[in-house]
Amino acid sequence: MKRNASRGLAYEEDLLFELSRPGRRGADTPAYDIPRVDVEDLLGGLLRDDVAALPEVSEVDVVRHFTRMSTWNAAVDLGLYPLGSCTMKYNPKVNERVARLPGFSHAHPMAPAVDNQGLLGLCFELEQWLAEISGMDRVTLQPAAGAQGELAGIMMIRAYHEQRGDTRRQKVLVPDSAHGTNPASAALNGYDIVAVPSGEDGILHPEAVAERMTDEIAALMITNPNTLGLFESHIAELCDVVHAGGGLVYGDGANLNALLGVSRPGDMGIDVMHYNLHKTFSTPHGGGGPGAGPVGIKASLAPYLPTPVVEQGPDGFFWNHDLPDSIGRLHGNHGNVGMLVRAYTYILALGAEGLRRSTDLAVLNANYLLACLREHYHVPIDRPVMHECIVSDRGLAETGITTMDVAKRLIDHGYHPPTIYFPLIVAGAMMIEPTESESLEGLDRFVEALVEIADEARTDPETVRTAPHHTRHRRLDETRAARKPILRWQPPTEPA
Ligand SMILES: *Cc1c(COP(=O)(O)O)cnc(C)c1O
Repeated sequence: MKRNASRGLAYEEDLLFELSRPGRRGADTPAYDIPRVDVEDLLGGLLRDDVAALPEVSEVDVVRHFTRMSTWNAAVDLGLYPLGSCTMKYNPKVNERVARLPGFSHAHPMAPAVDNQGLLGLCFELEQWLAEISGMDRVTLQPAAGAQGELAGIMMIRAYHEQRGDTRRQKVLVPDSAHGTNPASAALNGYDIVAVPSGEDGILHPEAVAERMTDEIAALMITNPNTLGLFESHIAELCDVVHAGGGLVYGDGANLNALLGVSRPGDMGIDVMHYNLHKTFSTPHGGGGPGAGPVGIKASLAPYLPTPVVEQGPDGFFWNHDLPDSIGRLHGNHGNVGMLVRAYTYILALGAEGLRRSTDLAVLNANYLLACLREHYHVPIDRPVMHECIVSDRGLAETGITTMDVAKRLIDHGYHPPTIYFPLIVAGAMMIEPTESESLEGLDRFVEALVEIADEARTDPETVRTAPHHTRHRRLDETRAARKPILRWQPPTEPA
Protein backbone atom coordinates (compact mmCIF):
# COMPACT_ATOMS: atom_id res chain seq x y z
CA MET A 1 0.00 0.00 0.00
CA LYS A 2 1.32 3.42 -0.97
CA ARG A 3 0.14 6.75 0.30
CA ASN A 4 -0.39 9.70 -1.98
CA ALA A 5 1.37 12.38 0.03
CA SER A 6 -0.31 15.36 -1.57
CA ARG A 7 -3.87 14.17 -1.01
CA GLY A 8 -3.60 11.63 1.81
CA LEU A 9 -5.40 8.99 -0.27
CA ALA A 10 -4.52 5.34 0.15
CA TYR A 11 -4.55 3.15 -2.93
CA GLU A 12 -3.19 -0.17 -4.02
CA GLU A 13 -1.00 0.17 -7.09
CA ASP A 14 -2.09 -3.08 -8.73
CA LEU A 15 -5.78 -2.33 -8.24
CA LEU A 16 -5.66 0.98 -10.03
CA PHE A 17 -6.91 -0.13 -13.42
CA GLU A 18 -7.26 -3.88 -13.60
CA LEU A 19 -10.47 -4.08 -11.59
CA SER A 20 -12.34 -6.47 -13.87
CA ARG A 21 -13.44 -9.86 -12.45
CA PRO A 22 -15.54 -12.32 -14.50
CA GLY A 23 -19.23 -12.10 -13.68
CA ARG A 24 -18.98 -8.99 -11.51
CA ARG A 25 -21.46 -6.30 -12.51
CA GLY A 26 -22.88 -3.00 -11.40
CA ALA A 27 -26.00 -2.75 -13.54
CA ASP A 28 -28.70 -5.02 -14.91
CA THR A 29 -29.84 -4.66 -18.48
CA PRO A 30 -33.33 -5.75 -19.49
CA ALA A 31 -33.69 -9.24 -20.96
CA TYR A 32 -33.00 -9.35 -24.69
CA ASP A 33 -36.31 -9.88 -26.44
CA ILE A 34 -35.74 -8.93 -30.09
CA PRO A 35 -35.77 -11.98 -32.37
CA ARG A 36 -32.25 -12.64 -33.57
CA VAL A 37 -33.33 -12.97 -37.22
CA ASP A 38 -34.65 -9.40 -37.21
CA VAL A 39 -31.40 -8.06 -35.83
CA GLU A 40 -29.40 -10.05 -38.39
CA ASP A 41 -31.65 -8.63 -41.09
CA LEU A 42 -30.98 -5.13 -39.88
CA LEU A 43 -27.23 -5.42 -39.39
CA GLY A 44 -26.31 -7.85 -42.16
CA GLY A 45 -22.91 -9.34 -41.44
CA LEU A 46 -22.15 -6.80 -38.71
CA LEU A 47 -23.69 -8.75 -35.84
CA ARG A 48 -20.94 -9.77 -33.42
CA ASP A 49 -20.57 -13.39 -32.34
CA ASP A 50 -18.89 -12.80 -28.99
CA VAL A 51 -19.75 -10.65 -26.05
CA ALA A 52 -17.74 -7.40 -26.09
CA ALA A 53 -14.68 -7.52 -23.83
CA LEU A 54 -15.89 -4.80 -21.50
CA PRO A 55 -14.59 -4.58 -17.93
CA GLU A 56 -16.73 -6.47 -15.45
CA VAL A 57 -16.87 -4.33 -12.35
CA SER A 58 -19.20 -3.49 -9.50
CA GLU A 59 -20.78 -0.07 -9.10
CA VAL A 60 -18.68 0.86 -6.08
CA ASP A 61 -15.48 -0.04 -7.97
CA VAL A 62 -16.49 2.15 -10.90
CA VAL A 63 -17.35 5.08 -8.64
CA ARG A 64 -14.07 4.82 -6.72
CA HIS A 65 -12.05 4.36 -9.91
CA PHE A 66 -13.29 7.57 -11.52
CA THR A 67 -13.44 9.58 -8.31
CA ARG A 68 -9.84 8.61 -7.54
CA MET A 69 -8.66 9.52 -11.01
CA SER A 70 -10.48 12.85 -10.89
CA THR A 71 -8.27 13.84 -7.94
CA TRP A 72 -5.11 13.24 -9.96
CA ASN A 73 -6.01 16.17 -12.19
CA ALA A 74 -5.63 19.84 -11.50
CA ALA A 75 -9.09 21.39 -11.43
CA VAL A 76 -10.54 24.76 -10.59
CA ASP A 77 -12.77 22.96 -8.06
CA LEU A 78 -9.62 21.81 -6.23
CA GLY A 79 -7.60 25.00 -6.12
CA LEU A 80 -6.40 28.20 -7.73
CA TYR A 81 -5.72 27.80 -11.45
CA PRO A 82 -3.85 31.01 -12.33
CA LEU A 83 -3.37 30.34 -16.06
CA GLY A 84 -2.75 33.84 -17.40
CA SER A 85 -4.80 34.94 -20.41
CA CYS A 86 -6.97 31.81 -20.10
CA THR A 87 -9.12 33.16 -17.24
CA MET A 88 -9.76 29.92 -15.36
CA LYS A 89 -12.43 31.39 -13.13
CA TYR A 90 -14.75 29.32 -10.96
CA ASN A 91 -17.63 27.65 -12.82
CA PRO A 92 -20.70 28.38 -10.67
CA LYS A 93 -22.87 25.33 -10.01
CA VAL A 94 -26.08 27.21 -10.78
CA ASN A 95 -24.91 27.28 -14.43
CA GLU A 96 -24.93 23.49 -14.43
CA ARG A 97 -28.36 23.29 -12.87
CA VAL A 98 -29.86 25.56 -15.51
CA ALA A 99 -28.09 23.82 -18.41
CA ARG A 100 -29.63 20.54 -17.20
CA LEU A 101 -33.23 21.81 -17.28
CA PRO A 102 -34.96 19.38 -19.65
CA GLY A 103 -36.22 22.18 -21.91
CA PHE A 104 -32.58 23.02 -22.69
CA SER A 105 -30.78 19.70 -22.32
CA HIS A 106 -33.42 17.74 -24.28
CA ALA A 107 -33.93 20.31 -27.01
CA HIS A 108 -33.26 18.75 -30.39
CA PRO A 109 -31.20 20.92 -32.73
CA MET A 110 -33.35 19.93 -35.72
CA ALA A 111 -36.67 20.59 -33.95
CA PRO A 112 -38.81 23.19 -35.72
CA ALA A 113 -38.38 26.70 -34.34
CA VAL A 114 -41.95 26.70 -33.06
CA ASP A 115 -41.00 23.90 -30.63
CA ASN A 116 -37.74 25.55 -29.53
CA GLN A 117 -38.89 29.08 -28.72
CA GLY A 118 -37.32 29.09 -25.25
CA LEU A 119 -33.88 28.14 -26.45
CA LEU A 120 -34.02 30.43 -29.49
CA GLY A 121 -35.16 33.25 -27.24
CA LEU A 122 -32.19 32.59 -24.95
CA CYS A 123 -29.79 32.74 -27.93
CA PHE A 124 -31.41 35.95 -29.16
CA GLU A 125 -31.16 37.58 -25.75
CA LEU A 126 -27.60 36.39 -25.12
CA GLU A 127 -26.55 37.94 -28.44
CA GLN A 128 -28.08 41.24 -27.34
CA TRP A 129 -26.39 41.11 -23.93
CA LEU A 130 -22.97 40.38 -25.41
CA ALA A 131 -23.47 43.23 -27.88
CA GLU A 132 -24.46 45.58 -25.06
CA ILE A 133 -21.50 44.51 -22.87
CA SER A 134 -19.00 45.11 -25.66
CA GLY A 135 -20.53 47.97 -27.63
CA MET A 136 -20.96 45.92 -30.82
CA ASP A 137 -24.04 45.90 -33.09
CA ARG A 138 -24.59 42.19 -33.79
CA VAL A 139 -23.31 38.88 -32.44
CA THR A 140 -23.09 35.32 -33.78
CA LEU A 141 -22.98 32.51 -31.23
CA GLN A 142 -21.78 29.80 -33.61
CA PRO A 143 -17.99 29.56 -33.19
CA ALA A 144 -16.87 26.83 -30.80
CA ALA A 145 -13.78 28.58 -29.39
CA GLY A 146 -11.91 31.85 -29.41
CA ALA A 147 -9.68 30.57 -32.20
CA GLN A 148 -12.68 29.71 -34.37
CA GLY A 149 -14.13 33.11 -33.56
CA GLU A 150 -10.94 34.70 -34.88
CA LEU A 151 -11.22 32.61 -38.03
CA ALA A 152 -14.84 33.76 -38.47
CA GLY A 153 -13.95 37.39 -37.79
CA ILE A 154 -11.11 37.46 -40.28
CA MET A 155 -13.32 35.71 -42.86
CA MET A 156 -15.84 38.53 -42.45
CA ILE A 157 -13.08 41.13 -42.80
CA ARG A 158 -11.94 39.43 -46.01
CA ALA A 159 -15.52 39.31 -47.32
CA TYR A 160 -15.93 43.02 -46.51
CA HIS A 161 -12.85 44.08 -48.49
CA GLU A 162 -13.62 41.77 -51.40
CA GLN A 163 -17.19 42.99 -51.64
CA ARG A 164 -15.79 46.53 -52.06
CA GLY A 165 -13.40 45.36 -54.74
CA ASP A 166 -10.50 46.21 -52.41
CA THR A 167 -8.46 43.12 -53.25
CA ARG A 168 -5.00 44.62 -52.75
CA ARG A 169 -5.27 44.13 -49.00
CA GLN A 170 -3.46 40.85 -48.38
CA LYS A 171 -1.70 41.57 -45.08
CA VAL A 172 -2.69 41.71 -41.44
CA LEU A 173 -0.86 43.63 -38.69
CA VAL A 174 -0.25 41.62 -35.50
CA PRO A 175 1.59 42.99 -32.42
CA ASP A 176 4.56 40.97 -31.14
CA SER A 177 2.75 40.37 -27.84
CA ALA A 178 -0.16 38.56 -29.57
CA HIS A 179 -1.44 35.12 -28.75
CA GLY A 180 -0.36 32.56 -31.38
CA THR A 181 -3.91 32.07 -32.60
CA ASN A 182 -3.95 35.63 -34.01
CA PRO A 183 -1.32 35.17 -36.73
CA ALA A 184 -2.58 31.61 -37.27
CA SER A 185 -6.15 32.79 -37.95
CA ALA A 186 -4.95 35.45 -40.37
CA ALA A 187 -2.64 32.99 -42.14
CA LEU A 188 -5.43 30.39 -42.41
CA ASN A 189 -7.39 33.04 -44.28
CA GLY A 190 -4.53 33.49 -46.72
CA TYR A 191 -3.12 36.70 -45.24
CA ASP A 192 0.55 37.51 -44.76
CA ILE A 193 1.48 38.65 -41.26
CA VAL A 194 3.24 41.93 -40.53
CA ALA A 195 4.55 42.01 -36.96
CA VAL A 196 4.28 45.28 -35.03
CA PRO A 197 6.75 45.74 -32.15
CA SER A 198 5.44 46.86 -28.75
CA GLY A 199 7.10 49.85 -27.12
CA GLU A 200 9.46 49.73 -24.14
CA ASP A 201 6.42 50.26 -21.95
CA GLY A 202 4.82 47.04 -23.22
CA ILE A 203 2.04 48.64 -25.24
CA LEU A 204 1.49 49.51 -28.88
CA HIS A 205 2.21 53.01 -30.17
CA PRO A 206 0.31 54.67 -33.01
CA GLU A 207 3.56 55.52 -34.88
CA ALA A 208 4.53 51.84 -35.05
CA VAL A 209 1.20 51.05 -36.70
CA ALA A 210 1.15 54.16 -38.89
CA GLU A 211 4.58 53.25 -40.29
CA ARG A 212 3.21 49.90 -41.49
CA MET A 213 -0.29 51.01 -42.51
CA THR A 214 -0.52 50.83 -46.29
CA ASP A 215 -3.27 50.04 -48.77
CA GLU A 216 -2.17 46.40 -48.56
CA ILE A 217 -3.23 46.08 -44.93
CA ALA A 218 -6.61 44.44 -44.38
CA ALA A 219 -6.69 44.66 -40.60
CA LEU A 220 -4.94 45.09 -37.28
CA MET A 221 -5.53 42.34 -34.71
CA ILE A 222 -5.20 43.62 -31.17
CA THR A 223 -5.78 42.27 -27.65
CA ASN A 224 -6.83 44.80 -25.02
CA PRO A 225 -5.70 44.58 -22.30
CA ASN A 226 -2.78 42.89 -24.00
CA THR A 227 -1.08 39.66 -22.97
CA LEU A 228 1.23 41.59 -20.62
CA GLY A 229 -1.91 42.51 -18.65
CA LEU A 230 -1.50 46.14 -19.76
CA PHE A 231 -4.25 48.38 -21.08
CA GLU A 232 -3.53 49.56 -24.61
CA SER A 233 -4.06 53.20 -23.73
CA HIS A 234 -3.58 54.41 -27.33
CA ILE A 235 -6.37 52.14 -28.55
CA ALA A 236 -8.63 54.89 -29.94
CA GLU A 237 -5.76 56.45 -31.90
CA LEU A 238 -4.58 53.02 -33.10
CA CYS A 239 -8.06 52.34 -34.48
CA ASP A 240 -8.15 55.78 -36.13
CA VAL A 241 -4.85 55.10 -37.89
CA VAL A 242 -6.08 51.77 -39.25
CA HIS A 243 -9.49 53.13 -40.29
CA ALA A 244 -7.92 56.15 -42.01
CA GLY A 245 -5.80 53.70 -44.01
CA GLY A 246 -8.88 51.72 -45.08
CA GLY A 247 -8.37 48.75 -42.75
CA LEU A 248 -10.51 47.20 -40.04
CA VAL A 249 -9.62 46.37 -36.43
CA TYR A 250 -10.05 42.90 -34.96
CA GLY A 251 -10.27 42.80 -31.16
CA ASP A 252 -9.16 39.61 -29.43
CA GLY A 253 -11.62 39.53 -26.54
CA ALA A 254 -9.89 36.84 -24.48
CA ASN A 255 -9.09 39.47 -21.84
CA LEU A 256 -12.57 40.95 -21.67
CA ASN A 257 -12.63 39.92 -18.00
CA ALA A 258 -10.71 43.14 -17.33
CA LEU A 259 -13.31 45.41 -18.95
CA LEU A 260 -16.81 44.26 -17.96
CA GLY A 261 -18.96 47.25 -17.11
CA VAL A 262 -15.95 49.59 -17.28
CA SER A 263 -15.28 50.13 -20.97
CA ARG A 264 -16.38 48.62 -24.27
CA PRO A 265 -14.25 47.53 -27.22
CA GLY A 266 -16.95 48.80 -29.61
CA ASP A 267 -16.55 52.31 -28.21
CA MET A 268 -12.77 52.12 -28.64
CA GLY A 269 -13.12 51.58 -32.39
CA ILE A 270 -12.99 47.77 -32.65
CA ASP A 271 -14.94 46.49 -35.71
CA VAL A 272 -15.09 42.79 -34.90
CA MET A 273 -14.16 40.77 -31.80
CA HIS A 274 -14.60 37.39 -30.19
CA TYR A 275 -15.68 36.54 -26.66
CA ASN A 276 -14.45 33.42 -24.88
CA LEU A 277 -17.50 32.28 -22.93
CA HIS A 278 -15.23 29.70 -21.24
CA LYS A 279 -13.00 32.48 -19.96
CA THR A 280 -14.92 35.69 -19.23
CA PHE A 281 -18.35 34.12 -18.78
CA SER A 282 -17.47 31.20 -16.47
CA THR A 283 -18.32 28.16 -18.60
CA PRO A 284 -16.08 25.10 -18.05
CA HIS A 285 -12.73 24.89 -19.78
CA GLY A 286 -10.52 22.29 -21.39
CA GLY A 287 -11.33 18.85 -20.03
CA GLY A 288 -14.38 20.35 -18.34
CA GLY A 289 -16.31 20.81 -21.54
CA PRO A 290 -16.43 22.36 -25.00
CA GLY A 291 -15.88 26.07 -25.43
CA ALA A 292 -17.81 28.80 -27.16
CA GLY A 293 -16.35 31.80 -28.97
CA PRO A 294 -19.16 34.12 -30.14
CA VAL A 295 -18.19 37.00 -32.41
CA GLY A 296 -19.47 40.56 -32.20
CA ILE A 297 -19.43 42.91 -35.19
CA LYS A 298 -20.24 46.44 -36.19
CA ALA A 299 -23.20 46.88 -38.54
CA SER A 300 -20.92 47.26 -41.59
CA LEU A 301 -20.05 43.54 -41.33
CA ALA A 302 -23.60 42.26 -40.74
CA PRO A 303 -24.13 40.96 -44.31
CA TYR A 304 -21.27 38.48 -43.80
CA LEU A 305 -22.44 36.89 -40.53
CA PRO A 306 -22.34 33.09 -40.47
CA THR A 307 -25.72 31.51 -41.17
CA PRO A 308 -28.19 30.76 -39.80
CA VAL A 309 -28.83 33.82 -37.59
CA VAL A 310 -31.57 33.84 -34.98
CA GLU A 311 -34.14 36.55 -35.59
CA GLN A 312 -37.48 37.63 -34.17
CA GLY A 313 -40.56 37.87 -36.42
CA PRO A 314 -44.29 38.22 -35.89
CA ASP A 315 -44.54 34.46 -35.18
CA GLY A 316 -41.67 34.38 -32.69
CA PHE A 317 -38.00 33.50 -33.03
CA PHE A 318 -36.72 31.73 -36.15
CA TRP A 319 -33.44 30.77 -37.83
CA ASN A 320 -32.78 32.94 -40.88
CA HIS A 321 -30.72 31.07 -43.49
CA ASP A 322 -31.15 33.73 -46.14
CA LEU A 323 -27.99 35.85 -46.03
CA PRO A 324 -26.60 35.81 -49.58
CA ASP A 325 -23.20 37.31 -48.64
CA SER A 326 -22.70 35.18 -45.53
CA ILE A 327 -19.34 33.50 -44.94
CA GLY A 328 -21.42 30.33 -44.42
CA ARG A 329 -21.93 27.91 -41.60
CA LEU A 330 -19.21 27.37 -38.98
CA HIS A 331 -20.68 24.74 -36.73
CA GLY A 332 -23.11 21.84 -36.95
CA ASN A 333 -26.48 23.02 -35.70
CA HIS A 334 -26.27 26.14 -33.54
CA GLY A 335 -22.93 26.03 -31.71
CA ASN A 336 -22.22 24.55 -28.29
CA VAL A 337 -25.65 25.45 -26.99
CA GLY A 338 -25.11 24.07 -23.46
CA MET A 339 -22.32 26.62 -23.00
CA LEU A 340 -24.58 29.41 -24.22
CA VAL A 341 -27.11 28.48 -21.52
CA ARG A 342 -24.37 28.55 -18.86
CA ALA A 343 -23.02 31.95 -19.96
CA TYR A 344 -26.58 33.33 -20.09
CA THR A 345 -27.09 32.10 -16.52
CA TYR A 346 -23.85 33.71 -15.37
CA ILE A 347 -24.76 37.10 -16.84
CA LEU A 348 -28.30 36.88 -15.46
CA ALA A 349 -27.05 35.87 -12.00
CA LEU A 350 -24.51 38.71 -11.76
CA GLY A 351 -26.41 41.45 -13.52
CA ALA A 352 -24.72 44.61 -14.73
CA GLU A 353 -23.43 45.55 -11.28
CA GLY A 354 -22.15 42.06 -10.56
CA LEU A 355 -20.25 41.93 -13.85
CA ARG A 356 -18.64 45.26 -13.07
CA ARG A 357 -17.71 44.03 -9.59
CA SER A 358 -16.20 40.83 -11.00
CA THR A 359 -13.89 42.95 -13.16
CA ASP A 360 -13.00 45.27 -10.27
CA LEU A 361 -12.04 42.26 -8.13
CA ALA A 362 -10.12 40.54 -10.93
CA VAL A 363 -8.03 43.69 -11.42
CA LEU A 364 -7.57 44.24 -7.69
CA ASN A 365 -6.45 40.62 -7.18
CA ALA A 366 -3.86 40.79 -9.97
CA ASN A 367 -2.39 44.03 -8.61
CA TYR A 368 -2.33 42.59 -5.09
CA LEU A 369 -0.36 39.56 -6.30
CA LEU A 370 2.07 41.78 -8.17
CA ALA A 371 2.60 43.93 -5.08
CA CYS A 372 3.24 40.86 -2.90
CA LEU A 373 5.61 39.23 -5.40
CA ARG A 374 7.64 42.28 -6.37
CA GLU A 375 10.26 41.74 -3.65
CA HIS A 376 10.74 38.07 -4.54
CA TYR A 377 10.52 37.86 -8.32
CA HIS A 378 11.75 40.09 -11.12
CA VAL A 379 8.98 42.27 -12.57
CA PRO A 380 9.83 42.98 -16.24
CA ILE A 381 7.42 45.90 -16.74
CA ASP A 382 6.59 47.52 -13.45
CA ARG A 383 3.30 49.30 -14.04
CA PRO A 384 -0.18 48.84 -12.62
CA VAL A 385 -1.76 45.92 -14.44
CA MET A 386 -5.28 44.94 -15.38
CA HIS A 387 -6.48 41.38 -14.62
CA GLU A 388 -3.14 39.56 -14.88
CA CYS A 389 0.48 40.24 -14.04
CA ILE A 390 3.88 39.02 -15.20
CA VAL A 391 6.98 38.12 -13.22
CA SER A 392 10.07 36.32 -14.50
CA ASP A 393 12.94 34.10 -13.40
CA ARG A 394 15.58 36.77 -14.00
CA GLY A 395 16.12 37.35 -10.27
CA LEU A 396 16.90 33.64 -9.83
CA ALA A 397 19.61 33.53 -12.50
CA GLU A 398 22.48 32.86 -10.06
CA THR A 399 20.63 29.84 -8.60
CA GLY A 400 20.22 28.18 -12.01
CA ILE A 401 16.49 27.82 -11.28
CA THR A 402 14.22 28.62 -14.21
CA THR A 403 10.58 29.48 -14.72
CA MET A 404 9.97 25.85 -15.69
CA ASP A 405 11.37 24.67 -12.32
CA VAL A 406 9.23 27.13 -10.37
CA ALA A 407 6.15 26.01 -12.31
CA LYS A 408 6.85 22.34 -11.56
CA ARG A 409 7.49 23.03 -7.87
CA LEU A 410 4.16 24.88 -7.62
CA ILE A 411 2.42 21.60 -8.45
CA ASP A 412 3.85 20.13 -5.23
CA HIS A 413 2.15 22.99 -3.38
CA GLY A 414 -1.16 21.99 -4.95
CA TYR A 415 -1.35 24.72 -7.60
CA HIS A 416 -1.74 24.53 -11.32
CA PRO A 417 1.21 26.53 -12.70
CA PRO A 418 0.58 29.89 -14.35
CA THR A 419 1.08 30.36 -18.08
CA ILE A 420 4.84 30.22 -18.64
CA TYR A 421 7.22 31.48 -21.33
CA PHE A 422 4.40 33.61 -22.75
CA PRO A 423 4.15 36.29 -23.97
CA LEU A 424 7.23 35.56 -26.03
CA ILE A 425 8.61 39.08 -25.64
CA VAL A 426 9.36 38.49 -21.93
CA ALA A 427 12.16 35.97 -21.28
CA GLY A 428 11.17 33.40 -18.65
CA ALA A 429 7.70 34.89 -18.21
CA MET A 430 5.25 33.64 -15.59
CA MET A 431 1.89 35.09 -16.43
CA ILE A 432 -0.41 34.98 -13.45
CA GLU A 433 -4.15 35.56 -13.58
CA PRO A 434 -5.83 35.01 -10.21
CA THR A 435 -9.36 35.97 -11.43
CA GLU A 436 -12.01 37.40 -9.15
CA SER A 437 -12.91 33.96 -7.74
CA GLU A 438 -10.14 33.86 -5.11
CA SER A 439 -10.39 35.01 -1.51
CA LEU A 440 -7.72 37.16 0.12
CA GLU A 441 -6.58 34.15 2.18
CA GLY A 442 -6.36 32.06 -1.01
CA LEU A 443 -4.19 34.72 -2.67
CA ASP A 444 -1.95 34.90 0.42
CA ARG A 445 -1.44 31.13 0.41
CA PHE A 446 -0.46 31.26 -3.26
CA VAL A 447 2.02 34.09 -2.60
CA GLU A 448 3.43 32.11 0.31
CA ALA A 449 4.04 29.13 -1.98
CA LEU A 450 5.81 31.29 -4.59
CA VAL A 451 7.94 33.00 -1.94
CA GLU A 452 8.84 29.64 -0.41
CA ILE A 453 9.96 28.41 -3.83
CA ALA A 454 12.08 31.52 -4.43
CA ASP A 455 13.78 30.93 -1.05
CA GLU A 456 14.19 27.22 -1.74
CA ALA A 457 15.84 28.08 -5.07
CA ARG A 458 18.64 29.67 -3.03
CA THR A 459 18.88 27.13 -0.20
CA ASP A 460 18.01 23.82 -1.88
CA PRO A 461 17.95 24.28 -5.66
CA GLU A 462 18.10 20.53 -6.32
CA THR A 463 14.64 20.01 -4.81
CA VAL A 464 13.22 22.70 -7.08
CA ARG A 465 15.08 21.45 -10.14
CA THR A 466 13.72 17.90 -9.72
CA ALA A 467 10.12 18.86 -8.89
CA PRO A 468 7.38 17.78 -8.88
CA HIS A 469 7.84 15.24 -6.10
CA HIS A 470 4.27 14.53 -4.97
CA THR A 471 2.57 13.73 -8.27
CA ARG A 472 1.91 10.31 -9.82
CA HIS A 473 4.32 11.15 -12.61
CA ARG A 474 7.54 13.05 -12.05
CA ARG A 475 8.80 15.62 -14.52
CA LEU A 476 7.83 14.64 -18.06
CA ASP A 477 9.80 15.10 -21.23
CA GLU A 478 7.88 18.16 -22.45
CA THR A 479 8.82 17.66 -26.10
CA ARG A 480 7.85 14.03 -26.26
CA ALA A 481 4.69 14.68 -24.27
CA ALA A 482 3.69 17.22 -26.92
CA ARG A 483 4.88 15.36 -30.02
CA LYS A 484 4.11 11.78 -29.06
CA PRO A 485 1.49 11.96 -26.36
CA ILE A 486 0.31 8.76 -24.71
CA LEU A 487 -3.35 9.52 -24.25
CA ARG A 488 -4.69 6.33 -22.71
CA TRP A 489 -3.61 3.98 -20.00
CA GLN A 490 -1.30 1.20 -21.08
CA PRO A 491 -0.47 -1.89 -19.06
CA PRO A 492 2.96 -1.66 -17.45
CA THR A 493 5.57 -3.51 -19.52
CA GLU A 494 7.41 -6.35 -17.80
CA PRO A 495 10.99 -5.43 -16.93
CA ALA A 496 13.30 -7.20 -19.44
C1 LIG B 1 -7.33 31.81 -25.09
C2 LIG B 1 -6.91 32.85 -26.04
C3 LIG B 1 -7.20 32.76 -27.41
C4 LIG B 1 -7.82 31.52 -28.04
O1 LIG B 1 -9.05 31.17 -27.48
P1 LIG B 1 -9.53 29.64 -27.43
O2 LIG B 1 -10.91 29.75 -26.90
O3 LIG B 1 -8.58 28.93 -26.52
O4 LIG B 1 -9.50 29.11 -28.83
C5 LIG B 1 -6.84 33.81 -28.22
N1 LIG B 1 -6.20 34.90 -27.74
C6 LIG B 1 -5.90 35.02 -26.43
C7 LIG B 1 -5.20 36.26 -25.95
C8 LIG B 1 -6.23 34.00 -25.54
O5 LIG B 1 -5.91 34.10 -24.24
